[in-house]
Amino acid sequence: MLSRDVTAQTMEAMQFSQVGKPLAFVEKPLPVPVDGEILIEVAACGVCRTDLHIIDGDIEDCLPIVPGHEVVGRVVGKGEKVKIACR
Ligand SMILES: [Zn+2]
Repeated sequence: MLSRDVTAQTMEAMQFSQVGKPLAFVEKPLPVPVDGEILIEVAACGVCRTDLHIIDGDIEDCLPIVPGHEVVGRVVGKGEKVKIACR
């Protein structure tokens, strides 16, 4: 069961900042979705080859980064241009 406080101002994440160093726990400001964006409470996240390229140092201009873009979760916020098609 998800227990995220959607009124919170911060979120917890694992951030990658430097090749050869481990991920580090960080607390970051909770993003506010605008326009066509949505805010997702992540329940699970996969690791793909892009994440491994970042960790291997093949892609460095994006650091620091919270890796993982293949997520499963619940939509907890949306920008004003997002239309809800179904529930
Ligand atoms: Zn991917």
